[in-house]
Amino acid sequence: MTSNTQQFVTLHSYPRAIVCIDADAFFASVEQAVHPEYRGKPVVTGAERGIIAAASYEAKALGVKRGLSLWDARKLCPELIVLPTDYETCSLFSKRMFDIMREFTPQVEEYSMDEGFADLTGLRRMYRKPYEEIAHDMHQRVNRDLGITVSLGLSLSKGLAKICSAFRKPNGFTAVPGKYIHILLQRTPLGDVWGMGPSNVSLLHKYRIHTAYDFIQMEEILVKQLLGKLGTEMWHELRGESMLDVSTAVKKSYQSVSKFKTFTPPVADREQLRSFLLRNVESACIKIRRYHLAARKLYVTLRTQQFDHLTIGTDLSRATASPLELSPIVDALFASLFKPGDYRATGVVLADLIADDRVQMQLFDSPIRMEKIEKLSGAIDELSKRFGKHTLHLASTLPASQQHQGGRAVQPERKENILKGETARRHLKYSFAKINS
Ligand SMILES: [Mg+2]
Repeated sequence: MTSNTQQFVTLHSYPRAIVCIDADAFFASVEQAVHPEYRGKPVVTGAERGIIAAASYEAKALGVKRGLSLWDARKLCPELIVLPTDYETCSLFSKRMFDIMREFTPQVEEYSMDEGFADLTGLRRMYRKPYEEIAHDMHQRVNRDLGITVSLGLSLSKGLAKICSAFRKPNGFTAVPGKYIHILLQRTPLGDVWGMGPSNVSLLHKYRIHTAYDFIQMEEILVKQLLGKLGTEMWHELRGESMLDVSTAVKKSYQSVSKFKTFTPPVADREQLRSFLLRNVESACIKIRRYHLAARKLYVTLRTQQFDHLTIGTDLSRATASPLELSPIVDALFASLFKPGDYRATGVVLADLIADDRVQMQLFDSPIRMEKIEKLSGAIDELSKRFGKHTLHLASTLPASQQHQGGRAVQPERKENILKGETARRHLKYSFAKINS
């Protein structure tokens, strides 16, 4: 680290002050926060697909990581606790995390469910504190209020802040002002730079570029030649020249949309459960169309009387926001999930959302059929706006709406007890505050 070729990248501390927050082993940590009995134990999620989606740090220490099959993971760790992915609870934790960040600054970007950026530039005067202290306060607040740990990076650009947030994990706090950028980048392998995929890494290796520091020493013109506009932007970002704005655009707030229906007493009737699910899909589609989004992934969840979540998901062959297109898929997923028994809730998650103007018609779609579907969806939105949701619905959701009109079922106790981060329609069973204290 004391080689005499190193040079300062810039002497400005924070011309811009950008924070990146990344939750540690998010889906597994949320399970440990809401189930104290799992704390300190190896926990993984992804039971529904047989592949590990998230692993707690206890599991990681035993060599269990994301992407491993459950079968292999159990060989490494026979006492592994394997759970299905609970999108409902995790999206509430996610929402809470971004809400806390927004209490510090309105400039917050929801980059993914468990990762986001905040722009603190110009706030030192208001808070009468250096940027490091504001970021430290934010870190403490998120950790304390959520009962899970996140890692925070603070630096001059999004590209640098992202490297900082991954620098120490879990529960890391890494702030790097201009005069220390060169030290951070010398310790950062090229592959850890945001957007630097394996093919770019091996291309740059041919030029003897191995660290992020080597990369920023390259001539800009060569970077442009080899990596194009995006590579050049990152080259500037890593030199402390912020190119990428913290985007607060609405569509970023919807990485996924979920709609759940909880019922008391429990329901055992197959046809009724199916119609609840179709209604969930209608509501989720109405919501994503409002934001001009379309989904590329669909998950279907049933919650049993014992509060087990059964979830199954699928990639969609093309993005859609149409319940007519999704309902046969929901049917198929439901058929593979359903076993006779009592159920407490149904739910649907539309994920991997993209702007609907990016939806491309595929070769085998008949344009006429597509147009009809879009027109009908548009009509449903229009009626919902004027007369309330579910005015016009798929015939198969009729059992669900009839139950809806009948007398209200018994209210579960927590319906009357709305917690911070919840709404009347979306509840979390556990308080966010003081989970860990
Ligand atoms: Mg994370």
